[in-house]
Amino acid sequence: MAGDGGIFDVVIVGAGPAGLTAALYAARARLTVLVLEKGLPGGQIATTNEIENYPGYRSIAGPDLAARMQEQAEAQGARLEMAEVAGLSLDAGGIKTVRTTAGDYRARAVVIASGSEPRRLGVPGEERLRGRGVSYCATCDGAFFQDKEVIVVGGGDSAFQEGLFLTRYARRVTIVHRRDTFRAQPVLVEKMRAHPKVSFVTGAVVEEVLGDERVEAVRLRHVKTGETWEMRAEGVFPYIGHVPNSAFLPDEIERDEQGRVVAGEDTRTGVPGVFAAGDIRPKMLRQITTAVADGSTAAMAAEHYLTGTTSLSY
Ligand code: NAP
Repeated sequence: MAGDGGIFDVVIVGAGPAGLTAALYAARARLTVLVLEKGLPGGQIATTNEIENYPGYRSIAGPDLAARMQEQAEAQGARLEMAEVAGLSLDAGGIKTVRTTAGDYRARAVVIASGSEPRRLGVPGEERLRGRGVSYCATCDGAFFQDKEVIVVGGGDSAFQEGLFLTRYARRVTIVHRRDTFRAQPVLVEKMRAHPKVSFVTGAVVEEVLGDERVEAVRLRHVKTGETWEMRAEGVFPYIGHVPNSAFLPDEIERDEQGRVVAGEDTRTGVPGVFAAGDIRPKMLRQITTAVADGSTAAMAAEHYLTGTTSLSY
């Protein structure tokens, strides 16, 4: 329920771990809370097969953790609406209007927790063969690649974690990475190196995804020599990082060169009453643990803003 005059105390953009934690804390502070989500509640964890580094769960499926976070926030009184946010207006008098595909919502405070989406390779064939062998979600599509050859592009945690998941189905998983060293956690690198179904092509990038109706191969290019060659593959899973979802924000909300909303550890942006939590904010470590930390901080910062409290430490 919205508060006085249909105005929510807090509208949260995005129902990933940051947004759902902000919702939980704000609702427990007895603020009226609306969370807006354009895709699956849970954000990136909704499409993560297995999570092994969220304390308290030795292993939990991403969608299960997402459902638990959503249920917990809603049980405290937060409302979740499925809608894509198209804009944010900062009206005089401190009231903010969040414009969405399902109508406008007004709020006294806004938490931007819109996260990021998979970065595209940006090569010919990628868009045309998307859903026909090109996929950005191993958890969703892995089962379609039973006994097939797949390549996973990237050298970070996502490439290794999702590559490992794909070994359940694929005949072979080849990690294609532009450098010779990986930024993925050593534990994941060790697991992949030891796996009999996994091979590596390093120092190479995908230049083109090939195939008529479906993916049949990729053309690779060696970064140093410029040599190109084709490699057979029926699936291509790019895991080359993420692009922040910040295009809907007005110019008043400052962003860095990567498009992330400029906000420090206290989650405050330069605009009073607007906070940024989770992957949308510049930070050293992007994990569920750091996203939930941001969410709780943002909710408390919003509460302090709404009640006129100045100190932000407990
Ligand atoms: P990431 O850590 O930014 O890694 C992206 C990878 O893609 C890097 O290896 C990068 O190469 C490569 N890359 C970037 N642009 C490329 C391009 N145009 N062509 C070819 N390769 C390109 O992204 P991520 O793996 O999606 O992870 C995002 C965040 O989530 C990270 O902070 C990660 O730790 C976290 N995460 C954690 C877990 C976990 O804890 N289990 C699981 C998933 C994600 P370079 O190395 O050469 O830059």
